[in-house]
Amino acid sequence: MSEIKAYGAHSATEELVPLKIERRELQPKDIAIEILYCGVCHSDIHTARSEWGPARYPVVPGHEIIGKVTAVGAEVKNFKPGDAVGVGCLVDSCQKCPACEDGLEQYCENGATYTYGSPDKISGGHTLGGYSEKIVVDESFVLRIPENLDLAKTAPLLCAGITTWSPLKHWNVKAGEKIGVVGLGGLGHMGIKFARAMGAHVVMITTSEKKGEDAKKLGADEVLISKDSEAMKSHASSFDFLLNTIPVNHDVEPYLNLLKRDKTMVLVGAIEPLSNVNGGTLIRKRRNLAGSLIGGIRETQEMLDFCGEHQVLPEVEMIDMQGINQAWDRVVKADVKYRFVIDMKSLK
Ligand code: NAP
Ligand code: ZN
Ligand code: ZN
Repeated sequence: MSEIKAYGAHSATEELVPLKIERRELQPKDIAIEILYCGVCHSDIHTARSEWGPARYPVVPGHEIIGKVTAVGAEVKNFKPGDAVGVGCLVDSCQKCPACEDGLEQYCENGATYTYGSPDKISGGHTLGGYSEKIVVDESFVLRIPENLDLAKTAPLLCAGITTWSPLKHWNVKAGEKIGVVGLGGLGHMGIKFARAMGAHVVMITTSEKKGEDAKKLGADEVLISKDSEAMKSHASSFDFLLNTIPVNHDVEPYLNLLKRDKTMVLVGAIEPLSNVNGGTLIRKRRNLAGSLIGGIRETQEMLDFCGEHQVLPEVEMIDMQGINQAWDRVVKADVKYRFVIDMKSLK
């Protein structure tokens, strides 16, 4: 075991503070990674504040990890010291169940191990994430970063990127289709970029008129202000697909009404009970309401390779580790353009 520096929360109501944590010794298939950058996801906040049920403390968040390999275990085949690598939301799964066999480790039927807050099947205790100097991960869960990508900007692809890429691919979004992305935050801005790269006609659906201007710069063809009920009516029954990133329970009805017959709205943000789903809105147009969780390791690598080839990268605002509590306040206020990334040099 080696002791390293990290930032974490001791309870749902306390700010993040510096702390010391331990990382396991290298197992034969493990990779030791020096963390260079870590993105800040709204899920970090939901978890640390026990908004998705009681968390295991301390919570050391962070699942958009970019780093350099410092050492590899005896049986590691695909990585060597010095390689630029990424770790996303997953660090382990059973590798045997039907979901794992399909490359969908996030739906592992025996329980995937998430990068933070999961029972740690190897070391005991619970997993501790990327707001830290170093991490040790089985090579099956380590991603290769294309050489031409800016490493700091690449970090958010490991969660915000794959969480938007996966549903757009799974629901087979095609060129020319009218696609709505709801909520312009970390996930939403990647949703715009990917849908655009797939050739879709992209409509940014936001609560904020100010952000609407930015959405066009990010690649949206149109902006729809969700608080403007007349504008929402004028787009009724016109969308081929909706990707909804709103991070909390909300009235889904106005959004479902935007879908054409037979089309689907996928929720990725509101991981909690919804207060208003009108069966009639679904039934009368055979509409679908669905959900999607991050993405598997294989498709995460495909997404990274696509981003390398097409130079698709997030818009990031760099912060020091010491600025994390202020950054979290801004995420909660929807005041972020469009992903904070922590420069881990500041922790050393
Ligand atoms: P974020 O940066 O906070 O963005 C969310 C955006 O949603 C905000 O910028 C805001 O955009 C809009 N919004 C916020 N509150 C709203 C409300 N009450 N009503 C309507 N719109 C609202 O968050 P994120 O990091 O992109 O994450 C989005 C959600 O996805 C979080 O809940 C996160 O935990 C979850 N998540 C899920 C997965 C998964 O696998 N399913 C993976 C990663 C994250 P506007 O200002 O444009 O309205
Ligand atoms: Zn995330
Ligand atoms: Zn499994």
